Amino acid sequence: MPANTANAGYRGVWVFIEQVGGEVAPVSWELLGAGRQLAGALGVELAGVLLGQGVAGLADGAWVYGADKVYLVENPVLAHYRTAPYARALVQLVKQYQPEILLLGATSLGRDLAGAVATALGTGLTADCTSLTIDPETRLLEQTRPAFGGNVMATILCRRHRPQMATVRPRVMPMPSRQEGRRGELVRLDMAFNEAEARAEVIEVIEEKNKAVYLDRAEIIVAGGRGVGSKENLRLLEELAGVLGGTLGASRAAVEAGWLPPEYQVGQTGVTVRPKIYFAIGISGAIQHLVGMQGADVIVAVNNDPQAPIFKIATYGIVGDLREVVPALTAEFRRRLAPGPA
Ligand SMILES: Cc1cc2nc3c(=O)[nH]c(=O)nc-3n(C[C@H](O)[C@H](O)[C@H](O)COP(=O)(O)OP(=O)(O)OC[C@H]3O[C@@H](n4cnc5c(N)ncnc54)[C@H](O)[C@@H]3O)c2cc1C
Repeated sequence: MPANTANAGYRGVWVFIEQVGGEVAPVSWELLGAGRQLAGALGVELAGVLLGQGVAGLADGAWVYGADKVYLVENPVLAHYRTAPYARALVQLVKQYQPEILLLGATSLGRDLAGAVATALGTGLTADCTSLTIDPETRLLEQTRPAFGGNVMATILCRRHRPQMATVRPRVMPMPSRQEGRRGELVRLDMAFNEAEARAEVIEVIEEKNKAVYLDRAEIIVAGGRGVGSKENLRLLEELAGVLGGTLGASRAAVEAGWLPPEYQVGQTGVTVRPKIYFAIGISGAIQHLVGMQGADVIVAVNNDPQAPIFKIATYGIVGDLREVVPALTAEFRRRLAPGPA
């Protein structure tokens, strides 16, 4: 395996801008926000990498979210994502321009591409990071992620190989604010591709019928845990979510009980969410659940056990039986949110 240990010449922070059908995955902008801070700490440039066909216009988004530069490779072979040509394009760009850090979203596309690129380059990759910082002494990227079922936070370094690669899940990093009117430099590169090297053929793109609930974009989440007790009681949470225009969520215990399908699961092995308000109802606050929702702006916990760990991170806590508390909250919100004089 090639090992690029001569890392002295490597400079700059790169973010892979993931697009599917001309739509950028929001995690790419979140990573530009994180990348901006890393680039600032290192005193280097922040660049985006855009691969596809007819996607040059997407660079506008990269400027407003903080990129100084965008490397763009357009080719019909790149129109749909396929591992081989995407990996080759990214590997070639890295070899040519030598960034010290390369970040990708931990989406299914990003996970696939990151593994292929890291092995081709013979460098280190940390998956599912929850925090990225720079050690000012060594200039190394400190890549922190949960390990051992979330009981330990491990900080991983890639001392000698470049680039230092990491993936980050959607919604773990905050969305940066838009800087309207900001522009950067577009570096357009020609690369030769042929269809045969793609080794995979996209025959049809089928839209998911039951589009998953988009928990990671929900602004208000009403999540239930084992304490909900039954599918019947879930109706109480549904009513609260309905009044607030929120989305239901679940702990793993609630999913395992069969009260909600797996795509509703919040946490380490579920979705990471960052809503404005997160209601944790009958959820104890196990670390594997917390890592998926502690980025919420406001956390409201309802639990009959005053010792439940969820109260340690809750903004507002209500100790009580959810069968009484939730209907009372629903009624009060309904009254206050009703149109007309309060
Ligand atoms: C590798 C690994 C990955 C995992 N990934 C995830 C994950 O992604 N997401 C996740 O959620 N978990 C995950 N878990 C499981 C996690 O460790 C916990 O077991 C789980 O989060 C517990 O769910 P809970 O809080 O709903 O249930 P419990 O821990 O049983 O808590 C139920 C709570 O409800 C309260 N309660 C009971 N009755 C009432 C009532 N009538 N009114 C009010 N409150 C009441 C109780 O006081 C209690 O605090 C993972 C575990 C491992 C080992």
